[in-house]
Amino acid sequence: PHAPGLEIAGAGATVPLTGGGRIEYANLDHGASAPALREVSDTVERLLQTYASVHRGAGWHSQISTSLYEGARGPIRSFVGGRADDAVVFTQHTTDAFGLLAHCLPARTTVVVFETEHHAALLPWERSAARVLRLPAPASPAAAIAAADEALRTRPAGPALLVVTGASNVTGELWPVARLAAVARARGARIALDAAQLAPHRAFSIDELGVDYVAISGHKLYAPFGAGALIGRTDWLQAAPPYRLGGGATATVTDDEVTFKPVPERHEAGSPNVPGAVALATACHLIAGADRDRLACLEAGLTEALQQGLADIPGVTVHRLFAAADAQTIGVVTFTIAGQSSAEVAAALSAEHGIGVRDGAFCAQPLVRRLLGAAGCSSPDGSGHALRASIGLGTTTEHVNRLVAAVSDIASRGPRLRYTTASGRPAP
Ligand code: PMP
Repeated sequence: PHAPGLEIAGAGATVPLTGGGRIEYANLDHGASAPALREVSDTVERLLQTYASVHRGAGWHSQISTSLYEGARGPIRSFVGGRADDAVVFTQHTTDAFGLLAHCLPARTTVVVFETEHHAALLPWERSAARVLRLPAPASPAAAIAAADEALRTRPAGPALLVVTGASNVTGELWPVARLAAVARARGARIALDAAQLAPHRAFSIDELGVDYVAISGHKLYAPFGAGALIGRTDWLQAAPPYRLGGGATATVTDDEVTFKPVPERHEAGSPNVPGAVALATACHLIAGADRDRLACLEAGLTEALQQGLADIPGVTVHRLFAAADAQTIGVVTFTIAGQSSAEVAAALSAEHGIGVRDGAFCAQPLVRRLLGAAGCSSPDGSGHALRASIGLGTTTEHVNRLVAAVSDIASRGPRLRYTTASGRPAP
């Protein structure tokens, strides 16, 4: 493992192979969801033995739960380098965090967003009171900055929000967040950062970057599914009615009037996901305590081996939006094999080699369509799908080498892939 001290729960598990026998699972799908850290898993297990209702319970266990739940906000705020007065609102995940922010936009806000975003960052604004300016994929980070500046400069009068990812879930490319934040500020706009992919791979501070809001997902940060957060400026969140109506968000309810609590309770109606919040905070605390420069350096070595190893295979295309010299990447690599169905390749990697990757359009269809089109790739099944390998804390050199060798083997079989499924039957 390239992350001493950040042990993964269940590391070293084996999976069956079609040819017989078992092999250590090579999980190269961290970009979708990362396995829990051992200490996160232990914390959740302990919590499940003592937890009780939060906020309104007077019992001892309720007091502990309340204090753990409320205490979970601080480590999350500091993990993203938030300002002391930034709100930390618990959500289900990044999708939910942007849904909340969209709900809280002031009337007639203009939202500027690139079509390259994950659907979670691309779509929620459409249903809000906002006017959405969707910008085409830029050719370079510099072009992204110029396009965002122009869109914000020429927008209709009123508030504006620029939405941008920190690292692409398709290409792994890092976006120039600090410079985009400076552009937003200069144009009197705010900026929201999609850190679903960035946060597991790089340390950052929204305060230093000049970012107003950030969204994260626990299940990409080595914590379980079901807890994420929106962190950022309080005023818009405070001015909006509750995201959900119900218990916990209300201060008083009479026949004539309902008044609401301030942020964050305002947007957290219903009994909260206490284990999820505590798990997310634990993961943030553990990752923040690691030597992140060293982790990024180790990851860069594995990423380079992965990108280069795949790109060197005849018939394989590694897809990027920007020129390599213009943008560094996290360990997320999207590729296709000429003439082969990505779904079938992914199935073969699993059944024959014990490797987990993802195939599809990665909830970023406009970007994947553009990348495949630009590279002249079309999948034989017409799906417009690609393969994605993504590195995480448990990734080893052996996992990367195994994937490169397996892809090389599959690519060498030519366009008519033959592989066997997990049940041992030849694939159709
Ligand atoms: N943004 C990015 C960049 C992502 O990679 C993802 C998850 N694939 C999301 C947003 C959405 O995250 P979630 O499914 O946890 O809401």
